[in-house]
Amino acid sequence: MLDQSEYLHPDKECLSREQIEALQVERLQATIRHCMNSPFYKKKFEEMGIKPEDIKTTADVRKLPFTTKQDLRDNYPFGLASVPLEKCVRLHSSSGTTGNPTVILHSQKDLDEWANAVARCLWMVGLRPSDVFQNSSGYGMFTGGLGFQYGAERLGMLTVPAAAGNTLRQIKFITDFGTTAIHAVPSYVTRLKEVMDQQGIDPRKDTKLKILAIGAEPHSEEQRKRIENMLGVKAYNSFGMSEMCGPGVAFECKEQNGLHFWEDYYIVEIVDPETLEPVPDGEIGELVLTTINREAMPLIRYRTRDLTRVLGRTCACGRNHIRLDRMKGRSDDMMVLRGVNIFPIQIEKILMQFNELSTDYLITLTTDNDNDNMTVEVEVVAGFDLTDVARVQPLTKEITRRLKDEILLTPRVKLVPLGALPKSEGKAVRVKDFRKVYQ
Ligand code: ADP
Ligand code: ZN
Repeated sequence: MLDQSEYLHPDKECLSREQIEALQVERLQATIRHCMNSPFYKKKFEEMGIKPEDIKTTADVRKLPFTTKQDLRDNYPFGLASVPLEKCVRLHSSSGTTGNPTVILHSQKDLDEWANAVARCLWMVGLRPSDVFQNSSGYGMFTGGLGFQYGAERLGMLTVPAAAGNTLRQIKFITDFGTTAIHAVPSYVTRLKEVMDQQGIDPRKDTKLKILAIGAEPHSEEQRKRIENMLGVKAYNSFGMSEMCGPGVAFECKEQNGLHFWEDYYIVEIVDPETLEPVPDGEIGELVLTTINREAMPLIRYRTRDLTRVLGRTCACGRNHIRLDRMKGRSDDMMVLRGVNIFPIQIEKILMQFNELSTDYLITLTTDNDNDNMTVEVEVVAGFDLTDVARVQPLTKEITRRLKDEILLTPRVKLVPLGALPKSEGKAVRVKDFRKVYQ
């Protein structure tokens, strides 16, 4: 058993499998009872004849109906609430670029529990009240802002709400305030380092940085290692989504062997996206989450569309909360090119193995003469001379070969100068699809 001070909530973090299951059954029954206050779930449960007493084991969650993003859209904005609006104190909403946005309501208790979950994650990776936490993520509707803010404050850290962008100012904060930990999207960390280089700042000597929380977008193990080496820090994968509150759903522990999903907050299932049946441990499927600790707007069997697999249910860190693999992407991130299924992360994994390449890349899909093609543009590292044909040509050839081995198609590979690709303030845009529509 590890030292108790390693855990923020030892009574919840160190539960045995049997204790986790017992708590889940109790909380799921209570959730079903509570969801009868939502017209949406009341109707569904009544149609299916579901009663809280039907839940005797965690696996009985399968008796319940799924909830989809479309359900949230169809019942926009407040149709899934299980409490009257006067009990709600905040809402978060998705961008809504593809139809009605989705809205999640929170009561004060929800916000407290959310802050507890984020604080627990940050404590787990070694952060303590003496740390200075800079949150370089967008604030506002994006949950990475307020989610980390309240979690870091709950832990007791001095918290700097730096928000996204303005890299020179970020670096000034880091050096002036003695920032020891940062939360940012992984694609932003490279930008931060680029500007530090331009300013002649060595993160190892001139800053106190030691821990990064990186998340909100898919990234590969190779990308994480890059980030760790670049800044001389430990970088931990942080997973969340607004429908499940936001950050704090799952986080890596110091073992860095997968994401611990907090099973006192969520019931985790991995299902085959076609048949919706559970897949065996180790096999990739769609992550389905049920909130069992939420008041304003519990969600039952929410289909996240994120693809991942179960790695284990025990861990050297002493926590038995289920460990899942880093996300492979969302099912809607998958590109189908000439009948082959490809995820951007497969391409990233290969690119990051080349020391000559930086971390930013862009995949463009086009139709030329009725053939679908993929172009991969990738930035080179500072100091790499793109006019040196004797170096560029064989390197491009080798990258192309390695990509072909991975994705079974031959992409066009283009090396571009550092900083040449468009940057976004939030999540990176990795794919642009300009193909003819009816393919
Ligand atoms: P939006 O749906 O507008 O992107 P969210 O911030 O709620 O807004 O996004 C949640 C999604 O972000 C998740 O469903 C997942 O696809 C992705 N995501 C979040 N954290 C990670 C992570 N650590 N690794 C991979 N993907 C992640
Ligand atoms: Zn662990």
